[in-house]
Amino acid sequence: MDDATLDRLTRSEGDQLSLVASRCLDCGHLAFPDERYGCERCGALVERHESVTLAPRGVVSAAATVHRHHQPEPATPFVMVTVRLDEGPALKGVLATPAPGTAPTPGTDAAHLARGRRVEGRLDGDRVTFHLLEELG
Ligand SMILES: [Zn+2]
Repeated sequence: MDDATLDRLTRSEGDQLSLVASRCLDCGHLAFPDERYGCERCGALVERHESVTLAPRGVVSAAATVHRHHQPEPATPFVMVTVRLDEGPALKGVLATPAPGTAPTPGTDAAHLARGRRVEGRLDGDRVTFHLLEELG
């Protein structure tokens, strides 16, 4: 995600991050990223949408360890997660791990352990990373 996209899709106040989404005024469908053309459920035009913000909290529904990547950051291996937000939409992001770039230990694979756990998205430099909630201070 480039800086312009990140700026458009997020708002932050101090430590608090929120995600910019849209709600269809005709059918109530919630979309993140926000709809730019029309409702993917009922087809209502973008003018029939309101901007809403979502808390970046949810449950990890899928996770995978990435061992090879076409860019130097984040350092491999890292864990990509799909997070089902409490308000419905799902999004992908990098899972914050205690030691980025270290190989997962068999049986304690971060991707395996992350599934089903609650996470919160935080802005880390130029990207949103997800932190396991029980590990936050
Ligand atoms: Zn709709």
